[in-house]
Amino acid sequence: MSPEQLRRYLNYYQDLGVKNIYRRAAANPIQPAPMPMPVELPPLEPAGDTLAKISEDIGDCRRCRLCEGRSKIVFGSGNEKARLVFVGEGPGADEDAQGLPFVGRAGQLLTQMIENTAAKEGIPIRRPDVYICNVVKCRPPENRAPQPDEMEICGQFLSRQLIALRPRAICALGSTAAKALLATKDGVTRMRGRWHKWRDIPVMVTYHPSYLLRAYNQNAKREAWEDLKTVLHFVYD
Ligand code: SF4
Repeated sequence: MSPEQLRRYLNYYQDLGVKNIYRRAAANPIQPAPMPMPVELPPLEPAGDTLAKISEDIGDCRRCRLCEGRSKIVFGSGNEKARLVFVGEGPGADEDAQGLPFVGRAGQLLTQMIENTAAKEGIPIRRPDVYICNVVKCRPPENRAPQPDEMEICGQFLSRQLIALRPRAICALGSTAAKALLATKDGVTRMRGRWHKWRDIPVMVTYHPSYLLRAYNQNAKREAWEDLKTVLHFVYD
């Protein structure tokens, strides 16, 4: 377009009341049009992540509907340099009230399982030596299982925790933890007793302690103790 043509073109639009025009990059038949600049998204797992940073990012989280009924966010507890991490389902009433994972009856059983098995096997660890957290950090109403979208939203924090901790092994307690970590539809009975992987970290699946509290689960109790023995020897031998 010549300068004169351009002037007439602009006058025409000015007469129509158009005050602003935008210049589009000229099409070049030889060179392809430049690609739009990629938009840089914040990484899901920032480099140099720490538990403190993850907790700060969670803040007063309202990212899923579980925020509505919670009293306290249950982030996780234990040794930040733990070689073994236990992952449960979600907080119950006691955990919600205290803001700490596994502090109710199921939590006491988990403590006994860890400490008694370790003592019996001659492994010098106690509960504060491991790290314990859940798939979702807020208590689901009526202690229902977390729903897939809640697990997915809150799961980003679990992933970041596991990457920041970099344990030697993970013990998934119950089917919700197994589903979240291993994207499986299989139940605990099929998954337990053998190794799986979350990224490159070995995962042992076993029963959730609240399942073991039911009196008729003697067989499951024996199997859970076996699973724990395998995990403890793998991590601490
Ligand atoms: S469960 Fe997780 S994602 Fe949902 S509100 Fe609580 S901290 Fe946020």
